[in-house]
Parts: sequence; C-alpha cells; structure tokens
Amino acid sequence: MLRGVKKIVKGQKTQDGAGVHLVRVISRPDVVDFDPFLMLDAFDSYNPEDYIKGFPWHPHRGIETVTYLIQGDIEHGDSLGNKGSILDGGCQWMTAGGGILHQEMPQACEHMLGVQLWLNLPAKDKMTRPQYRDIVSDNVPKVVKDGSTVGVISGEYDGISGAVHGDYVKMTFLDVELEKNIEFDLVTNSEDNLFIYTIYGSGLVNENTVDAKSGVLFEAGDHFKLTALEDGLRFLLFAGKPIKEPIAWGGPIVMNTREELNQAFQDLEDGNFIRKDVIL
Ligand code: FE
Repeated sequence: MLRGVKKIVKGQKTQDGAGVHLVRVISRPDVVDFDPFLMLDAFDSYNPEDYIKGFPWHPHRGIETVTYLIQGDIEHGDSLGNKGSILDGGCQWMTAGGGILHQEMPQACEHMLGVQLWLNLPAKDKMTRPQYRDIVSDNVPKVVKDGSTVGVISGEYDGISGAVHGDYVKMTFLDVELEKNIEFDLVTNSEDNLFIYTIYGSGLVNENTVDAKSGVLFEAGDHFKLTALEDGLRFLLFAGKPIKEPIAWGGPIVMNTREELNQAFQDLEDGNFIRKDVIL
C-alpha cells in the first residue's frame, strides 16, 4: 500500500546551546507519532552570528544523535577523547548510551546547512557503551540515475548499502535530490515510521503539495512515492521501526522512567555520569 501524508509540521524557530538559531522541526509533542525519532533540528544560515556560539560541553544519555551537514563545518570533541570536524556532506553518528559529555561548535563558513536528529534507544540499550562514528562525504555512496541523486547515509537504497547500519535502531537515512518532474520510489518496511524533511524545492505526494522546510510524516505502507515539482526537490528521508516504550525526557537525556532520569541528573551532580566501567 502506498504511504499517504499523515501530518506536516513546520517546527519552531528557537535558540539552543549558547545561542544557536535553529528550527526545531520535530520535538516532544511529536514523539508518539514519530517514534523512534525524538527531535530534528534544522540549521540554514549565511550569517555566522546565528551559530558560532555553538553547543559548549553538555551531557547526553539514552539516545543517539545524528548530525548531517549538506554544507558547513562543526568542530566537536567528547569525553571519550574524540575530536574532529563534520564538513560538507559529512555525518556524525554518536551513540550517547550510558553517558557522554561533548561539545559541538559550528565554525564560521559560507553556508551552514544541515540537521541534527535525535534517535531514541530501546530500554535494553539505553545504558550501552558510548560510541562515535565520523562519516565523511566520500564514504556516503551516491546512487545517480536520470534526474536523481541519492546519498545513502544509512540503510539501503536500490541495492546499495549505506555508509552506516545502526547497531540499535536500524534507521534508513537518505539524502535525495530530484530534478523537476522526477519521481522517487522506495519500497519500505510497512511497520516503519517514515518522515522526510524538505530542504528546498517542492514536491507532490498523492494530492498533497509539500513545500520546502517541512517535516512530513507518512502513513504506514510498504511503498513510498513522491514527485518533484517545477523547482526540483531536495529532502532527507528517515525511516525506522517504532520502539513503543515510555519516554522520560529531561533536556539532553531521554530515559524510560522518571527514576532513571533522576538518577542521570544525580550521576551528573556526583560526577558519576561517565561510566568508567562501561567505557573501559
Ligand atoms: Fe549534543
């Protein structure tokens, strides 16, 4: 069955970190519908003042954060000793698991264009070993056909295996560029929740026109189809199996129960947040 449009969200302009201007496309009110996806922040700025204050050292537990830049430069460092930069076409997939401290500092560049997705972890994996993957653009396979280019960041497209396969939620994550009137087709797992975030252009799904800068959640189905309109269309596609577990969310920490959340904040206070037993 072809997937229809279930819900379109535009998100809210907001600031986070030390004063980074962004659009929070999906967030807490959306988690039931978008499960296993918790949050999507979108960055699109030609003005470094919008983002150079960055996200100084902060904790995460219970989630994975996936940052993808179409263009830009974000320097990062974490409590595992990792250091590096996310650059044009690059992706950082960080499993916070039992606990990580990190900072994410966007650097002044011509155009900062990208997203950060928060992917939930199932209860059994929330306290897993923190892990961190840097995927450079060259390691993202691109499937180029008549009028379409598809970057396969994770999962699979057209028989091509992506740069990453998650260890926990096996998300499909594609970066799709379509020229005008080109149709994009994907066979999907019926039970997966699937949404897209449109970067530019517009498209047509059944009778619904979808504009730029929209989060579009689809109904269940085993087939996804969309056609680019006059200006072409670029969108990011995310699909994953819902976890269907309770959520206790406190800032950068997302657990299942209030007790686990309190424990996380207690661990932060006590200096026990980074679990040496798990890391070593
Ligand atoms: Fe972070």
